[in-house]
Amino acid sequence: MEDYKYRRILLKLSGEALMGDGEYGMDPKMLEHLAESIKTIHDDGIEVGIVVGGGNIFRGMAGAAAGMDRAQADYMGMLATVMNALALQDAFEKAGMMTRVMSAIEMHEVAETYIRRRAIRHLEKGRVVIFAAGTGNPYFTTDTAAALRACEIDADCLMKATKVDGIYDKDPMRHEDAKRYDTISYRDVLAQGLKVMDATATALSQDNHMPIIVFDISEDDVFEKALKGESVGTTVVE
Ligand code: UDP
Repeated sequence: MEDYKYRRILLKLSGEALMGDGEYGMDPKMLEHLAESIKTIHDDGIEVGIVVGGGNIFRGMAGAAAGMDRAQADYMGMLATVMNALALQDAFEKAGMMTRVMSAIEMHEVAETYIRRRAIRHLEKGRVVIFAAGTGNPYFTTDTAAALRACEIDADCLMKATKVDGIYDKDPMRHEDAKRYDTISYRDVLAQGLKVMDATATALSQDNHMPIIVFDISEDDVFEKALKGESVGTTVVE
């Protein structure tokens, strides 16, 4: 434990991170892989909260683009995150971790309702807390939910798992000369319009001095390295 720079983390997993190589839904192998990777740090005493997205199932913007009422579509998106949270819970418990799903929208039969103090208590008792249903409000994203929960639970950092190994000055998939940042300021992320997290999530993190680590989920031992302060991906700081 003494090797670790951070003790309590909030991990943002996008819906896409659960898809693995698939094009929709969840890949059981990917869920298992995620559970095993997180178990390593959890066994070392790291307190882990997770906000999970829903983009692998439904996005409010896509519904709105197809003619749906935006808020109605956003509620569908939030429900999609609950399905992902239950899938993660299943995989994590199979890997031997105690978990709780806490939902921002009440649904007693499937998940606890989110109560900040109770979430912190779960973390202190060594349970992985999976936060579902985003912020519970339409017009927000799960990135913003992640920044919000990170601040609320007093996390030491917000870790954003992606398919790219950090933040680049331009899209590395399209530009060979794209340069990766080791660190970058919130202000530059916002000013350059870099697509790390949406602006609301970035601004909330900035206001509350919450470091954001953006890293590639498929890299070996990436959680341990990042939490021990080794250079992994890109860190967004003041
Ligand atoms: N959503 C919402 N409010 C929130 C969080 C999420 O309305 O606080 C909806 C929104 O429609 C979003 C969908 O849930 O498109 C899924 O979340 P997101 O797109 O952030 O998932 P990810 O891209 O991380 O998979």
